[in-house]
Amino acid sequence: MDYDVIIIGAGLSGLAAGIRLAHFGRRVCILEKHGRVGGLNSYYTLAGRIMDVGLHAMTNYVQRPVKSSPLTRVLRQLRLSYDDFQLCPQIISRISFPAKELQFTNDFAFLVQEIAEKFPNQVDNFLKLADSLHGYDDLPQGGKSVSARQVLNSFLSDPLLIEMLLCPMMFYGNSQENDMDFAQFSILFRSIFNEGFARPQQGMRQILQLLVEKYQGNGGELRTKCEVQKLHVCQDQVVEVQLAGGEAAGDQMAGGQASGGQAAGDRAAGDRMPDGQRLRAKTIISSIGLPETWALCSHWDTTQGEPRPGELSFVESILITDVLPSQSLGFENTILFYSDTDHFHYRKPDDPVDLSSGVVCCPNNYQFREQVSKEPLSGEPLSSESLPGEPLSRETMSKEPLSEGIIRLTHMANFDLWNKLDKDAYRIWKKHCLQESAKKAERFIPGLSQHIVVQDMFTPKTVQRFTGRRNGAVYGTANKLSDGRTPIKNLFICGTDQGWVGIVGTLLSGISIANKCVLY
Ligand SMILES: Cc1cc2nc3c(=O)[nH]c(=O)nc-3n(C[C@H](O)[C@H](O)[C@H](O)COP(=O)(O)OP(=O)(O)OC[C@H]3O[C@@H](n4cnc5c(N)ncnc54)[C@H](O)[C@@H]3O)c2cc1C
Repeated sequence: MDYDVIIIGAGLSGLAAGIRLAHFGRRVCILEKHGRVGGLNSYYTLAGRIMDVGLHAMTNYVQRPVKSSPLTRVLRQLRLSYDDFQLCPQIISRISFPAKELQFTNDFAFLVQEIAEKFPNQVDNFLKLADSLHGYDDLPQGGKSVSARQVLNSFLSDPLLIEMLLCPMMFYGNSQENDMDFAQFSILFRSIFNEGFARPQQGMRQILQLLVEKYQGNGGELRTKCEVQKLHVCQDQVVEVQLAGGEAAGDQMAGGQASGGQAAGDRAAGDRMPDGQRLRAKTIISSIGLPETWALCSHWDTTQGEPRPGELSFVESILITDVLPSQSLGFENTILFYSDTDHFHYRKPDDPVDLSSGVVCCPNNYQFREQVSKEPLSGEPLSSESLPGEPLSRETMSKEPLSEGIIRLTHMANFDLWNKLDKDAYRIWKKHCLQESAKKAERFIPGLSQHIVVQDMFTPKTVQRFTGRRNGAVYGTANKLSDGRTPIKNLFICGTDQGWVGIVGTLLSGISIANKCVLY
């Protein structure tokens, strides 16, 4: 055997599983197809700036390590300290519907007060709902999915409040159309409303660097630009992991576009990989998704049906402005969730993009620990040595994003429609959607469009190309594998398709699969 465990994918769940296993002396190798770790929550360069791919907020914020909170569990299991994450709490967020608005902070009592003011006859039942969620099982193993809408209807009689509560939960982690699993709702409710939003001071690279250092410090091996092409299965066991040969995938999430029309053009060409190398391990953990893992296997018993890829995807615009949104544009929210209709439609749209609802995030609007320096990030230990993959040159480090304004806009999008556009039509649609999405946000941030200096957008097609997630399904398949066990005895699924999403959720997922399926 080459290894005790091979982990496919160096996203958050794969790294967390790796840290745990290496800590307990297992010979572990993580295989990552890109040159940089982090998967859906990585970072990339955009016109000389380092930008987070996905980060709006880290959920599950606690002011200090609190026993039994998910974040504390993650830190304890990974042997990290609370201060390592340098978390900066949100300022204030908002849910905006045509008839009413609700604001919330990291203080749950603030939301209760808002509901008491805006929905006076609902507040008692809202509190009963919140109480019931405290005792709710996170992921009932193998249990039947319960409709969140049904449960909410049994507590609350105002349909508008139900829609307003569902909106942030769905945007931040639901893989089903129109409804969601109540267990998933419960996890997200606690992680967003009871605990709250924060941002690591330096963004995702700070967390990723910590995770890689910890993993390698524990003796784990990380092989980047190493794509798994096939899992050879014999008698219900993966016997060999076959790597792809040829060009590795590029590292850039999306092609940046300066407002003057110049493409950032920093897509990295991959190195050559060893042709078709085969590796052996006792256990394989895959973080790339259930249908995606299934597609790699030479054999898989499908009597229970084939795993179906998710359908829900998004476009995400990243706008850099020459002014700070709170100071000059009057936008003080950290995150704003909106719907133009009182019934919130969470579904694959009939058009490439559905602008009738969305998320507006302003990474500047956190309570940062100190004034963020405009100086180059010299001395920061981010280099090809400390974080494997594409080194970041001094030039790419020369602009600190948070000294400029940043607005991120998210909308639901239709993968199939984006996927069938030819190259020119795709470019035209992308430009059009970027403009329309920024225009839409003007309702909340008047004057935004005139202050954009650099902009970028990624589409469902970008998500699929970059992560391999079919249909660009950010939250994976709707049919989660809650215990991570597949029909193949030594193959386990961790991460998004185990049913845990978000930064803290997927870290926990990797930890739980390492613990349950390998260590204990
Ligand atoms: C736009 C966007 C915004 C988001 N915002 C937030 C947020 O604000 N807060 C939050 O908490 N969460 C957010 N998320 C969700 C969060 O990023 C994900 O839930 C989490 O990162 C998923 O981690 P994972 O380990 O399950 O999977 P992934 O991140 O998908 O990791 C899988 C890894 O496997 C690699 N891989 C794929 N195929 C192969 C192969 N064949 N061989 C080798 N490697 C392979 C991929 O390159 C990837 O690195 C966001 C996601 C997106 C896309």
